[in-house]
Amino acid sequence: MLYNEQKQCCIIDPGCYFEAEKDELKTGIEKAGLTPVLLLNTHCHLDHVFGNKFVHETWGLDLHLHEKEKPVLDFAPLSGERWQLPFDNYNGPLVYLKEGNFIKIGEDQLEIRFTPGHSPGSVSFYSAADGFIIGGDVLFNRSIGRTDLPGGSMDTLVESIRTQFFTLPDETKVYSGHGPVTTVGYEKANNPFVKGM
Ligand SMILES: [Zn+2]
Ligand SMILES: [Zn+2]
Repeated sequence: MLYNEQKQCCIIDPGCYFEAEKDELKTGIEKAGLTPVLLLNTHCHLDHVFGNKFVHETWGLDLHLHEKEKPVLDFAPLSGERWQLPFDNYNGPLVYLKEGNFIKIGEDQLEIRFTPGHSPGSVSFYSAADGFIIGGDVLFNRSIGRTDLPGGSMDTLVESIRTQFFTLPDETKVYSGHGPVTTVGYEKANNPFVKGM
């Protein structure tokens, strides 16, 4: 979750599955006095889409994702069954994100970067003004996203990291879907999968 000075927030990859987790999200937003204005998915693996429907129904937000990620979203319920985690998939309107465009949240903006490889339509959200990128499951602290799921490709993932992450200033913070925050510079020097690129 990301919010600006006007307390408008954007909800990215809501992973809430159980009722208690949904309550936690709702209570957290209310306690902080935030107004959700945008629902984004970096990509549509299970743990990133569970809460889409809840967010849509609670705050009336339509889902924004990359068009190439639509098949992954459609596959999510079947994947949920396989993992014994059945859920109601989002079935509201879809708004497609285009690389190079900007998402506006009040006065602030996020650049949409196309970063496939972990998933075919993965996107990352970059704020040049605030020096961070939200990368979903592309680049982790000393690790990278897995590429063995449908539509994944190691070559494509490494290329995404090289062209879309490692071209950013070293001090850029990288927030990922799992694990601690890191920086572009740290990963350039220490990430065993993409070192020295
Ligand atoms: Zn993923
Ligand atoms: Zn994930």
